[in-house]
Amino acid sequence: MTAKILDGTIVAKAIKDEVESEVAEYARRGLRPGLAVVLVGNDPASQIYTTGKAKTCEQLGIYSEKIDLPETTSTETLLKLVADLNSRDEIDGILVQLPLPSQIDTAVVLNAVHPAKDVDGFHPVNIGKLVTGEPAPRPCTPAGIIELLERNDIQINGARAVVIGRSRIVGLPMALLLLQRNATVTICHSRTRNLPAVAREADIIVAAIGRAGTVDRNYIKPGAAVIDVGTNRVTTREELERFVGDNPKKHAAFEKNGYTTIGDVNPREAAEVAGYLTPVPGGVGPLTIAMLMKNTLAAMKMRRGGSED
Ligand code: NAP
Repeated sequence: MTAKILDGTIVAKAIKDEVESEVAEYARRGLRPGLAVVLVGNDPASQIYTTGKAKTCEQLGIYSEKIDLPETTSTETLLKLVADLNSRDEIDGILVQLPLPSQIDTAVVLNAVHPAKDVDGFHPVNIGKLVTGEPAPRPCTPAGIIELLERNDIQINGARAVVIGRSRIVGLPMALLLLQRNATVTICHSRTRNLPAVAREADIIVAAIGRAGTVDRNYIKPGAAVIDVGTNRVTTREELERFVGDNPKKHAAFEKNGYTTIGDVNPREAAEVAGYLTPVPGGVGPLTIAMLMKNTLAAMKMRRGGSED
């Protein structure tokens, strides 16, 4: 079997097109969604992510404000900024890019974002609403994975799903979203015994671990849908060959940069056993940003657009 590749860029584009046309409709009524993107410090990956988010806003007609603060910023200074953004009517979403420098109390800052503007869906109030199934912003990465599954007609209702990872950002909300769609869900983590055997029960596997190539052929029931959330840098030739075989594109990237990006799934082995597989890059990543745009529009509609959805 060769797995069907689930292209996240196609689904992300469809979602962004829908957001763009709805934003244009609201613009005719004089309403424009607004997103504030806050970056503290100079982490190069975070800089790329925040620039990408602001650029996507621009493409879709969403107002964005990128606020860069120095590495030495205190919790108090950041809290003042968040309070100011909470009070501004034209700002519908506030995104504080993680990770924050170590002197900042991340939980205090995230909890200070008004739940109605928490487009990441990380605020305890919004996690509570996720648990009870009430409308609220849902964390972007797992919400994007649901869109990917549904738009590729992969049945969630009644399916056995195994989520590997239990983080607040990915694993835990992923499991809840699958459960709400009537999957039978098992959550696995670093203490799970006999993980490959548990994973082999699944029709849908979501791997959100942070370890390159963990999910190999022993984890996958033939025909299963395998969703790879991980983004890991592989820097040794041995790993490169184990994970990608002689894939020329990956080898070229490795030669050029000294590393290549591999997810939490061994793509070479998974492609031989799975029914569906997300690529890395080009799978889950593009969906996360598309869902952020969708959440920003939804936050505007809920707070000042006279809409309930
Ligand atoms: P995280 O907070 O570090 O959580 C990792 C989870 O994996 C934890 O629950 C941990 O278990 C579990 N785990 C670690 N080693 C394991 C093992 N050997 N076997 C089974 N479970 C294991 O990471 P995260 O924020 O959820 O992110 C996971 C990955 O997704 C990372 O590679 C991250 O870069 C990527 N990511 C990608 C996107 C995207 O848009 N593409 C978005 C977010 C994250 P314990 O709880 O027991 O420690």
